[in-house]
Amino acid sequence: MFGALVGDIIGSAYEFNNVKTKEFSFFNHETRFTDDSVLTLAISSYFLKFPDELNRDELLKIIKNTTRKYINAGYGPSFLRWINSESSLPYNSYGNGAAMRVSPVSYISKSLDETILLSDFVTSITHNHPEGIKGARCIAVSIYLLLQGASKREIKEYVQNNFYSLDFDYSDLVQNYKFEISCQKSVPQAIYLFLISDNYIDALKNAISIGGDSDTISDMVLALSESYYLNKNNKEGYSITKALSIENKQEMIDLNSKALSYLTKDLSEICRVFDEKYALMIDKEFINYPNK
Ligand SMILES: [Mg+2]
Repeated sequence: MFGALVGDIIGSAYEFNNVKTKEFSFFNHETRFTDDSVLTLAISSYFLKFPDELNRDELLKIIKNTTRKYINAGYGPSFLRWINSESSLPYNSYGNGAAMRVSPVSYISKSLDETILLSDFVTSITHNHPEGIKGARCIAVSIYLLLQGASKREIKEYVQNNFYSLDFDYSDLVQNYKFEISCQKSVPQAIYLFLISDNYIDALKNAISIGGDSDTISDMVLALSESYYLNKNNKEGYSITKALSIENKQEMIDLNSKALSYLTKDLSEICRVFDEKYALMIDKEFINYPNK
């Protein structure tokens, strides 16, 4: 599950400072964890605590408590109002917040139907607009299928048949893509950028290089990439990573490990415990969890 966090943290420096190139430094003085990491970990915490129960009140409590603890993580204005209110009702959002936080669901689920059920459960707490539900489902199902060993071709077909058109051109995105916060204008782009990537680090560079909501796009792209390139059960993706040079593998370890060091001790511990319990198929050779 750490891929989403690594993507968020590296992307954080470029959300308001888009770089339309694949040549950029992974870390700079703006690098931090943002709302994407906090919410992904809030959902992970819920499943660690209630692995077999869909308890809306408890999920609500965990999301509100966790986000209030990290209130300066960079939430959107409507979500921030919701956090600070006593409201327990969703607010009909179709923002990409639905999709950037959903990846833990894919690791918990034991079937495609369960992935959809759990995705809707965690999404509808705030993002109950049909496009919010759809964006989260698309990311959750894609990661679930990749974890089961799906190829890129299968993901492309599944997404095009069930969710979105992926008819993009990379140079056109680099030139013309702008800041978009809706699921429908960022989730299909994230899927596409993953599909055209050569490896894990290339996927991250693709994600940042189109600009826009960089932390959230790279959160989604690296969540997908982890479940493909670092997944021992995904023959197609894992063989690409295994064939990389020692230097390239070391670059991935350094990137993942350094990114997670930006989390607080509490947050990185949730990540480590969740991955230890649910992400057994992910090759942990590519990460050193901080404070281990
Ligand atoms: Mg963010």
